[in-house]
Amino acid sequence: MSMADQVAIVTGGSRGIGRAICLALAAKSATVLAVARDEGKLADLADEAAKKELPGRVLPRTLDVTNRQAIDQAIDRIAEEFGRVDILVNNAGITRDGLMMNMDDTQFDEVINTNLRSVFWMTRAVAKHMVRCRYGRIINISSVSGIMGNVGQSNYAASKAGVIGFSKTVAKELARRNITCNAVAPGFITTDMTDVLPSKIKDGVKVLIPCQQFGEPEDIAAAVAFLASPEAKYITGQVLAVDGGLSM
Ligand code: NAP
Repeated sequence: MSMADQVAIVTGGSRGIGRAICLALAAKSATVLAVARDEGKLADLADEAAKKELPGRVLPRTLDVTNRQAIDQAIDRIAEEFGRVDILVNNAGITRDGLMMNMDDTQFDEVINTNLRSVFWMTRAVAKHMVRCRYGRIINISSVSGIMGNVGQSNYAASKAGVIGFSKTVAKELARRNITCNAVAPGFITTDMTDVLPSKIKDGVKVLIPCQQFGEPEDIAAAVAFLASPEAKYITGQVLAVDGGLSM
């Protein structure tokens, strides 16, 4: 599953799942552009990849994925600098939880903009370079909430269900160009996003997971690395749940 000479872009690379994905792709020899807003954390990640002497490398790129103009400029710069983009992982995401009856427009819009609109903007910007090279692997990070729904997450579940519909459509539109597009739907994974949940809620969730434990960022990274590999060429338009059995 070598990705030597391949260029990958991973949004939300500064922390959690995105960080693990960057390291997993660099471990398979890819040049990885790690995208997020926190310059310091991105620099730490690049240092860590260098210290581990991974066969690939991680290069930091500061970018807010809710800024369309900045996305278009950044992607064109990356394509110009490296000549290609082989892999796009749309992973950046946020939560702004609250019951639907009490949810205000800002809470809803922030989540849709970061989790769904950015996926459209990033994919559209990158796809034109993939089409030119007649090769691409697009992996969009959805969520078990987008499949099952979740109390307090109408905004988040809508954004993640949207990511699934978007991924299937892009898969159909780009299949003839040798570009695959799949979604990965994590269950509960130990990151900053879930650390903030009260332990009562975490304990309540754990008993519902057949594996009886939360996953690690590396569990998601391994699935993404496979879908991003040349070997996954005949898999497109799929949703891979990585959730310890929660959604089955
Ligand atoms: P996390 O630890 O909170 O990290 C979120 C990442 O998204 C950070 O790197 C953050 O970077 C980036 N980000 C947020 N807003 C951004 C913006 N406007 N522009 C650029 N980057 C932005 O979350 P995580 O748990 O790793 O989640 C990663 C993905 O998996 C998300 O899409 C999430 O919805 C999904 N997911 C997570 C779980 C879970 O249990 N953890 C379950 C299902 C799905 P900066 O703050 O530096 O910008």
